[in-house]
Amino acid sequence: MGEARLESVAHGHETYTYDYDQSLLPGPDSGAGMWRYQGLLPRPDVPTRYPLPVGGTPLRPARGLRRRLGLPGLWLKDETAGPSASNKDRATALVIDQGLRLGVGVVSTASTGNAALSTAIGGAAAGVAVVIFVPEDCAPAKVELMTTMGAYVFRVREGYRAAFELSRRAAAHFGWLDRCTGLNPLTIEAKKTASFEVWEQLGRRAPDAVVLPVGDGVTLIGAAKGFRELVACGVLAAVPRIIAVQARDCAPLAARWHGAQAPVRWPGTVADGIEVPEPMLGDWAIDEVRHAGGDFVTVSDAEILDAVELLSDAARIPTEPAGAAAVAGLCRASAAGLVGPNETVVAWVTGADLPSAPVGAARPGAVFTISASLDEVAAALTGTSVPAV
Ligand SMILES: *Cc1c(COP(=O)(O)O)cnc(C)c1O
Repeated sequence: MGEARLESVAHGHETYTYDYDQSLLPGPDSGAGMWRYQGLLPRPDVPTRYPLPVGGTPLRPARGLRRRLGLPGLWLKDETAGPSASNKDRATALVIDQGLRLGVGVVSTASTGNAALSTAIGGAAAGVAVVIFVPEDCAPAKVELMTTMGAYVFRVREGYRAAFELSRRAAAHFGWLDRCTGLNPLTIEAKKTASFEVWEQLGRRAPDAVVLPVGDGVTLIGAAKGFRELVACGVLAAVPRIIAVQARDCAPLAARWHGAQAPVRWPGTVADGIEVPEPMLGDWAIDEVRHAGGDFVTVSDAEILDAVELLSDAARIPTEPAGAAAVAGLCRASAAGLVGPNETVVAWVTGADLPSAPVGAARPGAVFTISASLDEVAAALTGTSVPAV
């Protein structure tokens, strides 16, 4: 038996209980994409009203990369194919699907950039207003895309952690649907579907090891939970080893794992999607790696940029730095003997830059630079379409 308890400060909670069993797994008539795993998703068995395609991303054999790395059993889970070109699209879809069901008009989230972009694109498509909280130094191109899509963006001077806390408070106070990564359990529930797909794509087998980038920890925990549920359903013997990858210049969890002293302030990394000095789900992520018999590796910005190039040259997958971090980590892990040449290994390729702005919302949003205070949020939104009183 398993349980998924969904709690939302503003919208009460729903509890879903699963009797894990093979009957929950998709059959020949199950649809495509993420909704194919309805039996294991915490939502009623009704058609989704979320309008964009989600999940069903390719598992690529990447033959050029296999040769270059001497890993003939390597596969890439290519999460760059979605509407916003990152794995955040799974979580966005499940959250907005719930919002549409509950009749919620506003969804909000804090983000280092990609979750926000994904929410802005998904919200625009679904006709839901979007409010975003990012650190002040969020990539300007990403912020501009969000506002083009109609989102209201708050650049928070005190950084990501403060943006996160403010986002939560604002959602609770103003009655918005809170998509905040990790805190909304739907974000984990959605990301677990990538593991279901890998299992199906390998012919209903799990790999020996998976390599995953870690920011807040949601991607890793989701992937682990997916494999754990397959074990619970009786179709898998064990969760694969999990190699967790952090950027060397922002590696709080790897430091803890290796018992190292963390610097007072991390220098920062080109991989902004995983630049999280205080991860929301750090303890949980570390537990998952331990239980799966895995390890943490760190990679320098130079190694991450090399991996971006390697993926482009050898696998023809364009990525952004955070999206290529797992492949940089794989190179390290392989050199260190953490994965072997006879093993089946899947590296998560989690994101790419958006080549151009998707079709925008009817009305552009706006961007505000604020200190972390609810009053500043309310004042900025006065006269907009977002109720904030
Ligand atoms: C968010 C993100 C990750 C992983 O972050 P988690 O918060 O640990 O889930 C990895 N790559 C990209 C491109 C991302 O946007």
